Amino acid sequence: MSGVRPADRCPGLLRPHQAEDGAVVRLRLPGGRTDGVKLAALSRLALAYGSADLQLTSRGGLQLRGLPPVLPAAFLAEVTALGLLPAPSHERVRNIAASPLTGIAGGAADVRGLVAELDRRLIAEPALADLPGRFLFVVDDGRGDVSGLAFDLGYQALSPTNGLILIGDPRRGVPVAADRAAQVLIGLAQEFLAVRAGAWHVADRPEWAAERRRGAVAAPGLGPLAAPLGPVGGAASVHVPLGFLTPAQAAVVARVAGTGPVVVTPWRGLVVAGGAGALPDLVATGLVAAETSAWSLVSACVGAPGCVKARADTRQQARDLVACGAVRERTHLSGCGRRCGAPVGPHVELVAAGSGPYELAR
Ligand code: SF4
Repeated sequence: MSGVRPADRCPGLLRPHQAEDGAVVRLRLPGGRTDGVKLAALSRLALAYGSADLQLTSRGGLQLRGLPPVLPAAFLAEVTALGLLPAPSHERVRNIAASPLTGIAGGAADVRGLVAELDRRLIAEPALADLPGRFLFVVDDGRGDVSGLAFDLGYQALSPTNGLILIGDPRRGVPVAADRAAQVLIGLAQEFLAVRAGAWHVADRPEWAAERRRGAVAAPGLGPLAAPLGPVGGAASVHVPLGFLTPAQAAVVARVAGTGPVVVTPWRGLVVAGGAGALPDLVATGLVAAETSAWSLVSACVGAPGCVKARADTRQQARDLVACGAVRERTHLSGCGRRCGAPVGPHVELVAAGSGPYELAR
């Protein structure tokens, strides 16, 4: 069967989500990779048609919000012309998160080529258009960062030539040669589709996953679950407060990057290759390069007025918490019990109560 299952509501360019603050379009960037030119163009589109800011997603993608309910043809044409819709039938399944610093600094291997090959193979298989929009591939360059995300299938490099296939579990993997990894992952995704029967994730088919993990060995384990901030390997690594990149910030990032790469991290950050010398310019726009900043500790769901379920303006209240110096440990504010966008790992969870104050939920 091709097409979208009714309950799969993950948005895309061709199927926006209608939120309280207008239509939301989600753009997939395999491995989080884009460049300064595309980022500048998207920021101009967000300003012209939407609510101006670009929203970074927890899978290293970008969202434009506040768009008209029916997207103007010129908007669709411009996004498509940027090369961000290479396969319309597969746009919502190109969910591939990768170690943001791969090929820049650290890691056991440069996995950028593997990410590109996995994306190519994914969109070349017509049946895989039916993967759930929530299904996530991770490609970890060995440092154990993105294998800490809630993923379905993944690869963790052990060296430039070999690694482990991860099947819903970051602790164990099946040894594989690096040059076969994309092919094996695509084969597993096809098998999952065959046994899926309505399941969203590999974890929903534990017997199938356990069978496929036969021969698995212990994985190296998880590293820091975020990219370090500041100058890294000649790049600038910055956190984007609350994951909303303003037009002024996007303009400076685009100027610093030029035609070079910009990587959107799954932790609401950007890595600007070759941008270490321009960190003061980036920080001057409000981007954060210091691990000790309260902004790198606080996150919030979209909240009011963007979400119909929200009981609070979570982002404004997060700004208030930072302004009064009240954030001392990782903290996430949610407008309701769904806790969208909550970080992986230990954190203080503040959930808006029915009326008035937040409830603390650790
Ligand atoms: S946590 Fe609740 S209020 Fe916040 S974005 Fe999700 S559904 Fe909306």
